[in-house]
Amino acid sequence: MPARVDLRQRALFAPEPGAAARDAEDGVALETLRTMAGKLAAHFGLSCTSIDAEADGVVWHYGICTTDGRIRIRLRHARTGRLLKESSLVDTLCHELAHLRYFDHSVRFRRFHERVLAEARRRGWYRPGPTRTAPLPAAACEISR
Ligand SMILES: [Zn+2]
Repeated sequence: MPARVDLRQRALFAPEPGAAARDAEDGVALETLRTMAGKLAAHFGLSCTSIDAEADGVVWHYGICTTDGRIRIRLRHARTGRLLKESSLVDTLCHELAHLRYFDHSVRFRRFHERVLAEARRRGWYRPGPTRTAPLPAAACEISR
């Protein structure tokens, strides 16, 4: 006689569908960004102390950095919840890394951001494709002192 399966009980204790896959996807994205950040920071002599994913539900910026070198990056689209495109994530990463030299959105910051992006492109990490999205607007980033 086959064992009975209580579906109601299963539903109560089963994890949210897709949660494990989503965590795994976030983990891979984060590890990739950390590897890139380590190499770019070394190349430009920046002091980046940590790269983390922004908390779920934080949708008012793409990235945030602090003067002590901590960076958080939003991995997922605010509305769809899908992982953001790799080129967008790398653009945000380069933007936040550039802040570790210039804690503002001045012309010299923007020039340096372009240099960091160019280095990411040279290494094959930044491939925006023919329809490059507009650069991250300053309002989409926070600098915390
Ligand atoms: Zn910024």
